[in-house]
Amino acid sequence: MNKNVIITGVTGQDGAYLARFLLRKKFKIYGIVRRNSNDPFKRLDILGITKKINFINADLSEFKQIELQIKKLKPKMFFNLGAQSFVSYSFDNPDYTDKINNASVVNILESIRLNSPKTKFYQASTSEMYGDIKGITKKVLHEESKFNPVSPYAISKLSAYYYTRMYRTGYGIFASNGILFNHEGPLRGEQFVTKKIVKGVLNFIHTGQPVYLGNIYSKRDWGDAEDYVEMMYRILNLTKSDDFVIATGKAYSIKEFVNMTCNFLNLKIKWVGSGISEKAITEQNKPLIIIKKSLFRPHDVSYLLGDASKAKKIVGWKPKSNIQKMIKKMIEFEKKIYK
Ligand code: NAP
Repeated sequence: MNKNVIITGVTGQDGAYLARFLLRKKFKIYGIVRRNSNDPFKRLDILGITKKINFINADLSEFKQIELQIKKLKPKMFFNLGAQSFVSYSFDNPDYTDKINNASVVNILESIRLNSPKTKFYQASTSEMYGDIKGITKKVLHEESKFNPVSPYAISKLSAYYYTRMYRTGYGIFASNGILFNHEGPLRGEQFVTKKIVKGVLNFIHTGQPVYLGNIYSKRDWGDAEDYVEMMYRILNLTKSDDFVIATGKAYSIKEFVNMTCNFLNLKIKWVGSGISEKAITEQNKPLIIIKKSLFRPHDVSYLLGDASKAKKIVGWKPKSNIQKMIKKMIEFEKKIYK
């Protein structure tokens, strides 16, 4: 039986968790990894799986190597998780973001169509594609909701989403979009707000250095990355390809995320001031959270809340974790690093 699986973005948060999940199912993992001056295998080392993965050196902007592997391996599944995934950075580098997140997807799909049409393709789509739904707070987003992307990241992802659908409907390729709402965990990238908060609050406890944040009133539907990668696999194991929202159905603001983190760390804080001058201070009047204008996005997405009813019905979506468990896991992980 063909057990070959290609994962782009295998060194990222989701790629690492997905690789571990699939290795437990005895799949042969081929992970795309780009040349990097930092240690690209950090997350895989933490999970203890680096040696179990076959690495393919390739950058998503240069396609030859990936095409060669699709031809050679004819993988059973192809998970496209590689991306320039940081929304704020995409405003500074829109062309690069589009090249990695969109143009590369066209190349991968075209190569699957020409060289390995039985390969099942998963595209890492995102709730950011819904974009600005200002004035419609409490609106719950699902597969039929309108998209209104407001960042280069979201626009590039929306184009890739439509390409994925087009290869499904036009060419009959098994190509599915997972429209995943935010999901986090100990392996989350350093620049993402949840990691910044957990790491920053712990650092504050040890050093007294404050944490700088942008818009603390943005609300997100936050899940646990380990639950979400299992859904990626299940989506490709259906008999029919389709698009699915994966979300928890509960949204919290960044301010609430700070409060939960402090609560778990027994750090008593209160919020004072308003607008750009709002801050969180401790009982000793020490500033913990300071708002910084430069950390606001040019166009923010203020509210994202997902409705995963379709995935519940068809894919059997039932998360094992929740935001509280997920924050506790992140805290435990950072505490070990401090020790
Ligand atoms: P991540 O931690 O930022 O990982 C991104 C991965 O893409 C890394 O392995 C990175 O490699 C790789 N990559 C970036 N540019 C590349 C290039 N030019 N060539 C080859 N590889 C490249 O992201 P994640 O949180 O795991 O997310 C996985 C996917 O799901 C992404 O497509 C993201 O946009 C999407 N998504 C994530 C969320 C979420 O909340 N996490 C929600 C919805 C959708 P390096 O290690 O070399 O940087």
